[in-house]
Amino acid sequence: MAMAQHKTQTAGIIDGKAIAKKLRESIKRHVDVLIEDHKIMPGLAVVLVGDDPASAIYVNNKEKAAKAAGMRSFVHRLPKNTSQDGLLTLIRELNADKKVHGILVQMPLPKHMRESAATVLKALNPAKDVDGLHVENMGRLMADMPGLVPCTPMGCVILLKTLVPNLTGLHAVVIGRSHLVGKPVAQLLLRENSTVTVCHSRTHNIAHLAREADIIIAAVGKPNLVKADWVKPGAIVIDVGINRLDDGSLTGDVDFDAVSKVASHITPVPGGVGPMTIACLLGNTVAAACRQNELTVPHIG
Ligand code: NAD
Repeated sequence: MAMAQHKTQTAGIIDGKAIAKKLRESIKRHVDVLIEDHKIMPGLAVVLVGDDPASAIYVNNKEKAAKAAGMRSFVHRLPKNTSQDGLLTLIRELNADKKVHGILVQMPLPKHMRESAATVLKALNPAKDVDGLHVENMGRLMADMPGLVPCTPMGCVILLKTLVPNLTGLHAVVIGRSHLVGKPVAQLLLRENSTVTVCHSRTHNIAHLAREADIIIAAVGKPNLVKADWVKPGAIVIDVGINRLDDGSLTGDVDFDAVSKVASHITPVPGGVGPMTIACLLGNTVAAACRQNELTVPHIG
C-alpha cells in the first residue's frame, strides 16, 4: 500500500537576533577606536513627534542600542501638536550640532503632519541622514555612489550574504515598492549583481513571479500574504513585514509554518529583519561620524 508522502524539509531559521548582536559588537569596536584614537564619540539624535506606542518602543530600543554601542544618544520627544516649523527648527539645530553625527526622525509623523514628511526629510543634512531617506542619499544609491543607505534594506542584504556571500545572478523577487524598503532593497540587490523583479499591489499574478525566485523579500504589511505555493523549493525567504494581530502577537507577511516546509532558509518575525534594522542604524551613525571627520569608513556587515 502506498504511504502518504509527508514533506519533512524544514527551512533553516535565519537568526537575525544573533547576527545583529555580532554586528553591534563589531560596531562597538569601531566606536571604541573612534573614541580612543580620534576623540570622536559618535552621536545619534532621534526625534519622535507624538505618542504612537509602537514608535515610542522603536525609539526606546534605538536609544538603548546607541548607548550600549558606546555612542551618545539624544532623544527629542516632541508633543503631538508640534508644528512643522517647530520640527524644522529642531532639525536645523541638530544639523549644526557637532556632537550629533546622525539624525533620524521617527516615521510615521502624526496625522496632521503627514504632508510634512518630505519637507522634513529634505531639511536633514544628507551627511547626517542615517535613515538614508533624503533624496540625495536615494540618488547616491541609484548612482552607485557612497552615501547613507536605508537601514532595513541594508539589514536584509547582510542577512542574505551570511548565507550566500555572492548573490550574483540570483533572481530576487521583492514584494513591495516603498521608498523605505522595497525600492532600496531592490537597488542594493542590483548592486550585488542579482536579477531583480519588483512586485506591488498592482502586479498581476505575483504567485507565478515569486515561484521563479531564488530569493523572496516580502515587505508589504499583510499577514500571511506569501503562501507555500508561491515559493520555489529551496528558495530563501526574507520577511520584512511586521503585523500586529488581534491577540497582540506579531507576525510577518509570510505564512511561516507552511513556507518553512518549502524554503531552504527563512527569517522569523520577530527576531529576523527587525534587529538588523537597529544594528544598521548604528553602523550608519559610525559611517556618518567617520565621513564628517574625513576618516575612512569601516566596512560594516
Ligand atoms: P508601505 O505601506 O509603505 O508599502 C507597502 C508596499 O506593499 C507597497 O509598495 C504596496 O504596493 C505593496 N502592496 C500592498 N498590498 C500588496 C499586495 N496585496 N500584494 C503585493 N504588494 C502589495 O510599507 P513599508 O514601509 O514598505 O513596510 C512594509 C512592511 O514592512 C510593514 O509591515 C512594516 O511594518 C514592515 N517594516 C519592517 C521593518 C523592520 O525593521 N523589520 C522596517 C520597515 C518596515
